[in-house]
Amino acid sequence: MNSVETLLDVEAIRADFPILDQAIKPGVPLVYLDNAASSQKPLAVIEAMNDYYRRYHANVHRGIHALSEKATAAYEEARAKVAAFINAGSRREIVFVRNATEAVNLVMYSWGRVNIGAGDVIVLTQMEHHANIVPWQLLAQEKGAELRFIPVTEDGFLDLSDLDWLLSGPVKLVGVVHMSNVVGTINPVAEIAARAHAAGARVLVDAAQSVPHMQVDVQALDADFLVFSGHKMCGPTGSGALYGRRALLETMPPFMGGGEMIKRVTLEGAEWNDVPGKFEAGTPAIAEAIGLGAAVDYLAGIGMDKIHAHERAITAYALERLDEVPGVRVYGPADVSKRGGVTAFTMEDMHPHDIAQLVNEMGVAVRAGHHCAMPLHQRYNLPATTRASFYLYNTFEEVDRLVEALYAAKSVFAL
Ligand code: PMP
Repeated sequence: MNSVETLLDVEAIRADFPILDQAIKPGVPLVYLDNAASSQKPLAVIEAMNDYYRRYHANVHRGIHALSEKATAAYEEARAKVAAFINAGSRREIVFVRNATEAVNLVMYSWGRVNIGAGDVIVLTQMEHHANIVPWQLLAQEKGAELRFIPVTEDGFLDLSDLDWLLSGPVKLVGVVHMSNVVGTINPVAEIAARAHAAGARVLVDAAQSVPHMQVDVQALDADFLVFSGHKMCGPTGSGALYGRRALLETMPPFMGGGEMIKRVTLEGAEWNDVPGKFEAGTPAIAEAIGLGAAVDYLAGIGMDKIHAHERAITAYALERLDEVPGVRVYGPADVSKRGGVTAFTMEDMHPHDIAQLVNEMGVAVRAGHHCAMPLHQRYNLPATTRASFYLYNTFEEVDRLVEALYAAKSVFAL
């Protein structure tokens, strides 16, 4: 199947990702469809990190020597690239973190502990990743706050019909995932943010699945906080960002104490550094930040709109092909304009883990399990799903390979 026109030169893109060009065993080429868990890295990212280690590694912000100045400039340039990528007002609104999980925890420990007290309300959704549930459960337990959840409809949308009620009372925070890592739904974050703000709440957007795949504009969304991981967007593991509205970051206490996050220390106390330094205690992940900057350059160079359009075409094709396979049920919106390329499904009489294992025999890498979204699986009365997730380098032929592998898996079970 190669008749669908896409805007991307996928062949050229695949040449940037040498890892894709391999066989998992003789004669069985790899089909990598586990991008929602972590994407592969283009040479530009690998080389940017390599270059830093080979030519200018030194600690940042401290040295007055040439290498340190070069490393500091590259680290801060990466911050500016990330800020521009999501249209932040300033690079000072970007805090480098290890991943989206750390970013949510930073907001919880720093902002949440000061601003959320007994009886206050935190509104989340039933489709959150555990990274945007568990930190708030910890805080709610500590403070005696109440958690409320926006429910999910059968077809995978947020059910906003009771939002006025959910936003009533002392609501301090609304946390919402931009794109679901299970059902793929792109949530109406700007609308939810407007209503949350009208109710006096702050808004945290989990953009771990959206920033890698579509144009995200923190100002258009009117997010107060927005989090994402570098490793899902062609960047290295151990890189990620917290966007925070500058006025909020300025008022927040530090998350961790130590070197770099202070201006002055005496034995009696300390004066905090300006943002974002206040939140980056200790030696940061310098190579990883530089790698993330290179990933942003790479994605922006191709164009997020083109990447999104390509993934939409692949997803439409995948939904059509999966629908042909007897016993397959795909979860989430049928309308590809309302979803991304994350496609979770079940197959009658087959366990999701068995499916993943059997298709792996044919080279197809998918994920099985609850994908760190157990409450969403509970919503559908499922212990697990199998998930195929697409990225800019995936092809229509790879969807065909997945479908062939599913038929083969079925025939093994029919024996
Ligand atoms: N939120 C969503 C929607 C995700 O898909 C993930 C990763 N599966 C995370 C948060 C957490 O990302 P990380 O493990 O990189 O912190």
